[in-house]
Amino acid sequence: MSVAENLKHVRQEIVALEQRFDRTSDSVRLLAVSKTKPLADIEAAYAAGQRMFGENYVQEAVDKHEHLSHLSDIEWHFIGPIQSNKSRQIAETMAWVHTIDREKIAHRLSEQRPVERLPLNVLIQVNISGEASKSGILLEQLDDMVSLIQQLPNIKLRGLMAIPAPQTSEADQIQVYAPLYQAFKALQQQDCDIDTLSIGMSGDMAAAIASGSTMVRVGTAIFGARNYTS
Ligand SMILES: *Cc1c(COP(=O)(O)O)cnc(C)c1O
Repeated sequence: MSVAENLKHVRQEIVALEQRFDRTSDSVRLLAVSKTKPLADIEAAYAAGQRMFGENYVQEAVDKHEHLSHLSDIEWHFIGPIQSNKSRQIAETMAWVHTIDREKIAHRLSEQRPVERLPLNVLIQVNISGEASKSGILLEQLDDMVSLIQQLPNIKLRGLMAIPAPQTSEADQIQVYAPLYQAFKALQQQDCDIDTLSIGMSGDMAAAIASGSTMVRVGTAIFGARNYTS
């Protein structure tokens, strides 16, 4: 199957899941995760109308950003772990970062964001799987991280992101997502101006859309299996 056909199927599935879980139509956006995939695959998805792409590795993200600079309306999202010595490259090239889980990184990204660009959109990565995950802050640390980011001038908090340990059933996966959704809603009720809950991958789109996802990050279902995983 071609990238264009896969993309069409994924879009159809999102629409069906929005209906199944009583979500507003068009409330779930699709981030195409192109890590490890060649430029030609990104170009094929672009030709099929896709504009948001996600990358995990800084060097690969920067290279793709440069090689595809003529496709100037691509919106690049960084969704991998961030080492502080790589933060400048991220601040200079990306439109979004999904994986803020350290204050130091938040400070650096704000300092290093070129002032002539719009603020970098950021999500706080939350660890909702306990021991199973090394990345992400705990929910009890969320308010402090939110306050910090709100004070930084060149990054804009847009919401929360998580990569939970996969569960065997949809119902179990929904249960894992529940505290995150509650935390997201609670922040919105505290007048925190956020609109993005980045949850859901190829294997758990249904559970994520049931759990309030506003952005699914889909790689395999669009581009096929990767040769190596991250
Ligand atoms: C690779 C990756 C994805 C996409 O995963 P698929 O299972 O291929 O859809 C989504 N989010 C993150 C953070 C990833 O690293």
